[in-house]
Amino acid sequence: MLFRFFTEIGLFSFIEYQITTMKTINDFNFENKKALIRVDFNVPLNENLEVTDDTRIQAAKPTIIKVLEDGGSAVLMSHLGRPKGVQEEFSLKHIVDKVSEIIGVQVKFAPNCVGREAEDVVAGLNQGEVVLLENLRYHTEETAGDVGFAEQLSKLGDIYVNDAFGTAHRAHASTTVVAQFFSDKKCFGGLLAKEIESIDKVLRSGEKPITAILGGSKVSSKITIIENILDKVDHLIIGGGMTYTFIKAQGGKIGNSICEDDKQELALEILRKAKEKGVQIHLPVDVIGADDFNNNANTKAMSVDAIPDGWEGLDAGPETLKNFHNVVLDSKTILWNGPLGVFEMENFANGTITIGHSIAEATQNGAFSLVGGGDSVAAVKQFGFGDKVSYVSTGGGAMLESLEGKTLPGIIAIEQIN
Ligand code: AMP
Repeated sequence: MLFRFFTEIGLFSFIEYQITTMKTINDFNFENKKALIRVDFNVPLNENLEVTDDTRIQAAKPTIIKVLEDGGSAVLMSHLGRPKGVQEEFSLKHIVDKVSEIIGVQVKFAPNCVGREAEDVVAGLNQGEVVLLENLRYHTEETAGDVGFAEQLSKLGDIYVNDAFGTAHRAHASTTVVAQFFSDKKCFGGLLAKEIESIDKVLRSGEKPITAILGGSKVSSKITIIENILDKVDHLIIGGGMTYTFIKAQGGKIGNSICEDDKQELALEILRKAKEKGVQIHLPVDVIGADDFNNNANTKAMSVDAIPDGWEGLDAGPETLKNFHNVVLDSKTILWNGPLGVFEMENFANGTITIGHSIAEATQNGAFSLVGGGDSVAAVKQFGFGDKVSYVSTGGGAMLESLEGKTLPGIIAIEQIN
């Protein structure tokens, strides 16, 4: 009861969690059991309602296969998009063939995720069979974290498995609330366990020296992460658009570069705190300046603190990339979040590609590297580094909240034994 109350008011998200008794699918034998698995099958569909990127389905495959190989059956539940009520284009029936192809089993479909329609299909499931339930978000109770709705879901399985990291930061019915109906019969799927282990390796048990590389556009969106990781890392590399707030705050001339003037004092405070804590901060020394925010703009390398008016820094310069390379190559644990330049434009992607190469090389030399949160994941995939780093996170918002030091409600719900 107390747990439910804390979850509802969001208090748990501010408590640091530790990997102590992490129960995963490997702690269970699913023989003759129905596993109710929360997966993240929120995949992109084209206008013909075909799956255009099946990464998330592939990522859940090992968990589903483990259940089937044990001699159990799998009841899969997910959301797809943000439907307003029942909207045909958000039906999970469109992905049944793709899931069947990937899992290697003809997947059944239940036209509702609760009630008789769902219960009947689940009751008829045999060992080795899989059913996909209709979109959870056809019911507003899902995102509201409704306890009655969660209880209805809980009737559809003997063991609850959460394998949806992408929604683990939401206290929704299927990601969090449902867990309280399974006592100790609940665990993390293989994917979620890997995400937790990777974050733990960086923030808690990482081998030193530990380096965080933070890029992206704004100081304001990364400030909580910076504050949290200053206690954990030896080196902090700052790049991308955030750079210029730091440079201007120290008296540099940044021309028309992106800058949050109201965050200058905060930038100086970060530099002071880092010094106090013995964290070495590495900022760019040179940049690729452009005379327009445009791929075809005129460009030249210039000192980061002497950017003329009419010019703006859109990528890291060659000296900077050499410095960053040396820091990364000396690191044993690396976290990367955020691009080092406007990588969406080909002429300003070099910094992001080069740091990707540096991280890949360090990983090959034995370092552990985690890439997480939004645009750096997109960059890693776009430039082909996905299999050259130790782990690429599958959850944007969930990863960012983890890096901010928050404990995710979906994770606490599994660890809490009722
Ligand atoms: P974020 O979502 O905060 O991680 O920011 C990612 C965005 O930062 C990407 O869209 C980049 O294009 C942008 N970005 C990176 N470097 C710069 C820069 N020097 N000037 C403007 N935008 C940048």
